[in-house]
Amino acid sequence: MEYFPPALERLTEQFAKLPGVGRKSAQRLAFFVLSLPEEDARDFADAIVAAKTSISLCPVCRNFTEGEGPCAVCRSPKRDPGVICVVADPKDVIALERSREYEGRYHVLHGVISPMNHVGPDDLHIKELVERVAAGGVREVIMATNPDTEGEATAMYLARLLRPFGVKVTRLAYGIPVGGHLEYADDATLMRALEGRREI
Ligand code: ZN
Repeated sequence: MEYFPPALERLTEQFAKLPGVGRKSAQRLAFFVLSLPEEDARDFADAIVAAKTSISLCPVCRNFTEGEGPCAVCRSPKRDPGVICVVADPKDVIALERSREYEGRYHVLHGVISPMNHVGPDDLHIKELVERVAAGGVREVIMATNPDTEGEATAMYLARLLRPFGVKVTRLAYGIPVGGHLEYADDATLMRALEGRREI
């Protein structure tokens, strides 16, 4: 690496900070940027700064939004304010929106409770969720955290926290993936699928 000019080394180091990008890939990306026309490289740098400065958290659901004020979902009169779907990550909102089935609103925690990683309830946007429910008008809170240990524990914790408000707390159903085969499903998935069965 000592053969590299410092500016190239610096760029490589920045790319190496990205999740899932190792030293080799970072180097390749840095060389790619060097090969770009200056205008494209500038666009790239500007996009990073613009995203960082113009995107904030929605004051209602804590999802990412551009500019001040509530996000598009929280503003939409078509979205039922009586149903809140709780997710760990903004990426989960995108996934649920893709289904085009959900007509309620969201609440983004920005993580899950994880003692192993020193993430406690106070590190997440839990207080804001409780405040939303406490303000009234919410009929149902859907826990849509991942079905892993931490996601389950977080959902349980929230359910207990929201119980005093008399709101219905539900959990996403688990089951066999669409197009999947029973024989390939693991035991835990099969058990959950049985538990979550419904009348047809
Ligand atoms: Zn919002």
